[in-house]
Parts: sequence; C-alpha cells; structure tokens
Amino acid sequence: MKPLILFRVDPRAVDPASALQRVEPDAPLLTATDLAATRGDGVFETIVVVDGIPQAVEAHLDRFERSARLLDLPAPDRAVWRRAVEAVAAELRVPRGAVKYVLSRGDEATGALTGWALGFAPLRQRAEPPAETDAVLLDRGYRSDVAKTSPWLLQGAKTLSYAVNMAANREARRRGAGEVIFVSSDGYILEGPNSTVIARIDGEYITPPVEFGILPGTTQADAFDALRTEDERVAVRALTPADLFTADALWLCSSTRGAAPVRSLDGRPVPVDHDVTRRIFAHLNARKA
Ligand code: PLP
Repeated sequence: MKPLILFRVDPRAVDPASALQRVEPDAPLLTATDLAATRGDGVFETIVVVDGIPQAVEAHLDRFERSARLLDLPAPDRAVWRRAVEAVAAELRVPRGAVKYVLSRGDEATGALTGWALGFAPLRQRAEPPAETDAVLLDRGYRSDVAKTSPWLLQGAKTLSYAVNMAANREARRRGAGEVIFVSSDGYILEGPNSTVIARIDGEYITPPVEFGILPGTTQADAFDALRTEDERVAVRALTPADLFTADALWLCSSTRGAAPVRSLDGRPVPVDHDVTRRIFAHLNARKA
C-alpha cells in the first residue's frame, strides 16, 4: 500500500488547526526509538472514504478512544483526530479510498507522543459488493473472558501489534482460504484478524459480544442498522463453530471491504445470500459520514 497523502499529527496540540502538518507521502516520520516501531505500542483506526466522505467517523473515534484507554495512553483529542481524517479524506480523489490514523506512545528517548494520518487507494474501485470468500476457524488461544481476567493482553483494543493477525492470515492461505475466524479456547466464535462476524441462523442475524475480547465493529454496527430498517431480527449473542456450520449465511465485515459473504468454512460449503450482501453494501455506501 502506497500512501497518497500524509499528515503528521501532534496528539498534544490544543488547537486542532495547528495539530496537522502536511508532509510528502514518502517522508520519513519516526525516529529509530519510536515505540510504534520498536514495541508496536500504539493504537490505530482505518476508515473507508467513499466519494470523498469518510464513513462512520464518530464510531471509529469512539473505538480509538477505547483502545487508547485500554493501553493507558492519554485520551486522544477527538477534534484533532476528526480534523486529521477530514483533511486526508478531502484530498483523496478516488471513488474509494481509506484513511489510516495512528497514535504511538511515541519516542522512547524524548517521551513525546507521535501521531500521523495517511490516505491510500486503491481499494476495490468498482461499486460492487465484496467478493465471496473462504474462511477457516483458528484457535486464538484465549478464553472468552480474557478481557476481564487479563486486560493486559489488550484483547479488544486495536493496537499496532498486528503481527499475530498477519500470521493468522498467512495460516489461512496455507490452508487454501482467504480469511480466518478466531475461536476462543473455551469454544466460542470471536472475530477475524481484520473483521467482525455476522451469522444468519433461522433468519436472525447474530454477532458475538464485545465482552469476549473482540473489537466493536463499525461495519457490523452499520450493517445491523441496515437490517433493522428492513425489519430483520438482529442479536448480539455467543456463537459456536457448530452454529456457523449450520448457519444459513455468514459474513465477515470490515471498513475497507464492507460485508463479505463467506462461501465455505473449513472447506464445508456455506450458503451465500447475494441479495442481502448487495443491500448491506448499498446501505454502507450511502452513509453520510
Ligand atoms: N476486528 C478486528 C480485529 C479488526 O482489525 C477489524 C478491522 O480491521 C474489525 C474487527 C472490523 O472493524 P471495522 O468494521 O470497524 O473496520
């Protein structure tokens, strides 16, 4: 991914206008002692931008704050980060792009927090719903109550430490699949390394609870809004692998892709509902912010 636009963000600035500094997209940004680079110690968000409009900005800012809180980082100033997102989005002249913004614990040598926001493309540029995908179940190795028993494991925070998530994605590819769905060590469905699960079982759309140590998905939340307006039944509830194997449809939701239909799980076919996939996609694209 090549950045098209890059801003340095001063997380401590009091005036949002002076917090941003536009730099060349390939400008060096971090010192060799920045804790983002040396420890993966920071938090981030990625927001999709459709026709210049960044989507679900407030929900992403909520999650950014939540992640910072879980890492004992200073609370991010929403006005500063909102302005950073808007500044990048305004300049992304592609039908579909994304803004990624990052808060690092900063330079270990000076103690100063660091931040930046970048715009990139292309995501899929054509206005068509995400392609079908094949998923595998992988054990995450944590119980579903990990967030309560061991908050230092930072489950449920969107941290910069994504090496495990990337390794899981590679394992999926080794198994001939494109996606992972993590399972807790006590047997509950969690989330993907970059996505939230929605299963439809007996006509009801179900996603696992965030109390299981997973991220609150902004795309899943807006997909549920779409379904509610169509008088569909939605629920937040524990799911097991057996539930997914008998689901009448399954999606993996993420900002950059929308709700991607799963057509197989561990090699077993899962029915695909193209019509609902299209309707969720249309709703997500029509969001005004
Ligand atoms: N869960 C994890 C671990 C993620 O990294 C992501 C996003 O990349 C999601 C869920 C989906 O979140 P959203 O729909 O807000 O992009």
